[in-house]
This record gives sequence, structure tokens and C-alpha cells, in this order.
Amino acid sequence: MPDNTVLDRAMGALVGGALGDALGMPTQLLSPARITELYGHVEDFVAPFADHPVSKGLAAGTITDDTEQALLLGRILVESGERFDHARWVNALLDWEREVKARGSYDLLGPSTKRAIDAINNGVPAEEAGRSGDTNGAAMRIAPVGIMMPLEPLDAFVAKVAETCRATHNTSIAIASAAAVAAAVSRGVAGGDWRAASGSAIAAARRGATLGHWVTGGDIAARIVWAQDLVRGKVMSDAIRLITDLVGTGVASQESVPAAFAVLEVASGDPWQAAIISANLGGDTDTIGAIAAGMAGACTGFSRLPGDRVAGLKDIDMAEVQALAADLVAARTSKGSVSKAGPGKDAAA
Ligand SMILES: [Mg+2]
Repeated sequence: MPDNTVLDRAMGALVGGALGDALGMPTQLLSPARITELYGHVEDFVAPFADHPVSKGLAAGTITDDTEQALLLGRILVESGERFDHARWVNALLDWEREVKARGSYDLLGPSTKRAIDAINNGVPAEEAGRSGDTNGAAMRIAPVGIMMPLEPLDAFVAKVAETCRATHNTSIAIASAAAVAAAVSRGVAGGDWRAASGSAIAAARRGATLGHWVTGGDIAARIVWAQDLVRGKVMSDAIRLITDLVGTGVASQESVPAAFAVLEVASGDPWQAAIISANLGGDTDTIGAIAAGMAGACTGFSRLPGDRVAGLKDIDMAEVQALAADLVAARTSKGSVSKAGPGKDAAA
């Protein structure tokens, strides 16, 4: 497989995620009924209504924490080398929040990340602070791990996911969720389609659920399988109702992450469709959209994203995204070449 294809798919993951994030920015936290009342059916970037609790004041097409933190994590991964630098990562999150506050934004750190950062500020070591983090923040920003890491050997792959979760989301549910999303991205970057990516996600979620502090909640792998089965073959409106009513669209990992996989199924792996479906779901629309469209984009590649919509993204530096994607792909390629004939090499899907 030529490297430019790998790079195209890496860019597809990052920019696809940005599309889902920006489309869901004005609808996040709202009910489906309120979304319809305010915006009709969202099919293109819109500006949030004046009193939106966290997105007020942002221009149509603006990305949020989902994309910003994914890019931040990607940069820390590249700078860390083999051992993930927890202190550097936590400081980067703190700097990020300070910068976001200075911008006057209301869209700050999520509940698990905030709790972990507060613990660290109270003297808890970075490697211990994430012991109760079980919401979807790790999954929302994990795509760079999927770009950097070949899926095989799976233990090493999931261990890298867990390492990046330790400071903020060191729980079975959060690690399983992040492993699922990262695995889907990695499979896509290796040339897999969205169905293959879903299969890899389930295997990685099972492995991820054995790591971190156990917390109660539905099993992520089982719920991904269930959520995709639930919507398969359904007409769009029925599928969407099943996602909102049964799978759930909340910030809990066991809702929003299976929801993103159900969206991938309903969209048949189309990134922009995945973004549109997510934006209208209500609840954590931007995060579900970032995850679903990011996984879809990893499978289709950047070149198959809608160019006019990519051009409409705001507050994202495409040159920076491209440089990061190239660095992550270079790190992936070096891992693959260490064991050319061994299990570390990317298998063509
Ligand atoms: Mg967000």
C-alpha cells in the first residue's frame, strides 16, 4: 500500500472527526425536538442560537474540544516517543483549558478530565488521577493513537490506548471505549472498510475492558454489537429513534460510543452522512459526530470527504493537521518496519 494512501486515511480520520464535531457544535446538549425547533434538520454548518449553553458566540463550522484535544493528544504522542509522557499531557490539558477560558469559551474540560485535573492539582500523581473517569472524553480524542499504532499485536495496541487514558480515564469502560474507537481508526488507516473497522473495534473493546479500574456499566463491546444489530436494515427515521431511545446519546461512554457505531452503520460508513445523523440526534451530538465521522473518514480517506464542507471548517489549522498526520504515520511506519515479517506489520485488509 503506498504511503500516500495511509496518509490520506490518517487525514480522513482527523478531518472527518472535525466535520462531525463542527456540525454537532450548535446542537450539542439539546433535545432532538429543540434542535428541530431551532434549526430544522441540520445538514450543513449552522451558527448556534444566541443562548446556547456552551457554543454561544461561535461561528458556523467551528470545531470544539473534541478536535482540539485529539490534535493535542496527537502532538503529545509524537513528542513522547515510546513511553507516553503523562505530566506533559496533563500540562497540555491545563494549558488548553486556560487558553479556552481566555478565548471566552464556555465549552471547557469534560467531567472525567476535569475531575482528574482537580485531583492532580490537589497532589494526586498524574498516573493515579483517572481512576474514576468513565465518560466519553478518552474515546472522543483517541483517533491519533489509532493512526500511530498498527492494530497488531492487539495487546500492545490496547496497552497504548490504556496508557493515554491513565491520567484521566483509567477505567474499564473508558479504556474499552477508547480502544474500540482507536481500533476502528487503525483498521481504516490500514485499508479496512467500515465493517472491518467495526469488527476490530469489538475485539479491542473486549481487551480494553480488562484494563484499568473496574467500574459498573453496560459492556462496551457487547453494546456496540447490539447497537449496530439494532439499527441494521432499518429506515433512517426508525434507526435514529432507536439510537436516541434505546442506545442513548449521553456523555456516558456506554451510551455515546455504541451510538457512534450505530451511526456508522446507519450511514453505511459515509463520513458526512455520519456527521449529519449525529448532529440531529440530540445529547452529545458533537462528540458522537466526531467519533462516528472520524472512524468513517479513516476508512474512506480525506480525498473522499466533501471538499466544500472541509473548506467551511473554522478554527482549525489544516497545515498543522497535515503535519501531525504525517508525523503519526511516520511513527506507525517505523513500528511496522521493526518487525517487517512479524505481527507488527500492517496487514492489508
Ligand atoms: Mg465538543
